Amino acid sequence: MEIATITKKEIENTKREKLKREKPQVYEKIIKLADKERRGEPTCRIDIGYNYACNLSCQHCMANKFQKKARSLTVADMRNIAEQADALGWCQFNISGGEPLILKNFDEVLAALMPEKFHIGISTNGYFLTLEKARHLKEIGLDKVMISLDSIDPDLHNANRASKEGYEKAISAIWNAKAAGLDTIIQHVVSHQNAQSENTVELARFAQENGFSLDLVIAKAIGQWEGKHEVLIDRDDAAFLHKLNQQYPAARRDVFPSYGMKGGCGALNKCFHITQYGDVLICVFMHISIGNVFEDSLETIVARGNKIKYVRNFSPLCLSGEDRNFIDKYMTRFYGKPLPVDYREIFDADDFVED
Ligand code: SF4
Repeated sequence: MEIATITKKEIENTKREKLKREKPQVYEKIIKLADKERRGEPTCRIDIGYNYACNLSCQHCMANKFQKKARSLTVADMRNIAEQADALGWCQFNISGGEPLILKNFDEVLAALMPEKFHIGISTNGYFLTLEKARHLKEIGLDKVMISLDSIDPDLHNANRASKEGYEKAISAIWNAKAAGLDTIIQHVVSHQNAQSENTVELARFAQENGFSLDLVIAKAIGQWEGKHEVLIDRDDAAFLHKLNQQYPAARRDVFPSYGMKGGCGALNKCFHITQYGDVLICVFMHISIGNVFEDSLETIVARGNKIKYVRNFSPLCLSGEDRNFIDKYMTRFYGKPLPVDYREIFDADDFVED
């Protein structure tokens, strides 16, 4: 591997300076997060699956696995969530799905999240991210685009996405996002089978050399891989990814420390997911519901989730994809069930903190 010429600190500083210029209100909130964390307060980024509609049918997609419910999130609900999050000092949203860019009312959804007060990203397959669209999104307050790339090899990516043009679309979306001034994140799923491969190194090099970030999302034994624990990374794979990050700081995992905040699993307190039906999941990969935004405030739901020991206590490992004890004991409890499963069906009485 080559030695990186740009350090992690330089990457972080550049992003913070950009935010200070473009969204001063968000910057003021974001620089307080490390102190908030030190005081033991949640610093949640909220990932919202606003609508599960999509133009593709990817093998790994979880969106259609959730049980349909009568009530779905509306634009007014998004505004309500944003107001609550702002009052709690939180400052980051991600809109996932489904494919957000097929939503006819996407601009309204984004506006409801108060872009002047929040750093906002989307997870997209990139199909509709033309340069014109990317510029428009930037103009209306979007900050970040996360685009999945399954392989640097077009054929492998296309086979996984069941699409002949998926790779080309994803690559052109990546360049369009960058040209429009959006933070551009390539997301790549890393399993035990592909972690220590030349493909992973190539993707890291590609991201580093071109000013993108590479999110290394470790495989979870859910969805198409439900129960297949052989896809989970092991210690050697984790060490390889750590070394890769030292060589190419643009390639990172969410358990790595950043921006003066500690590393480790951020389930609930650093990031949680809201489904299209309002259910709050501890982590987008843990299909365990701790409440519903149509019934309770975010503050109440997060306080409830923090009674679960594994959420409250620090875990250096990703609970859903790396901590074998947690996976064997708790993740397996939602396998095969209608999703999401209520947290009281997953955790036992002694899995809660007393206070
Ligand atoms: S369980 Fe894994 S994916 Fe979920 S927040 Fe923790 S580290 Fe991230």
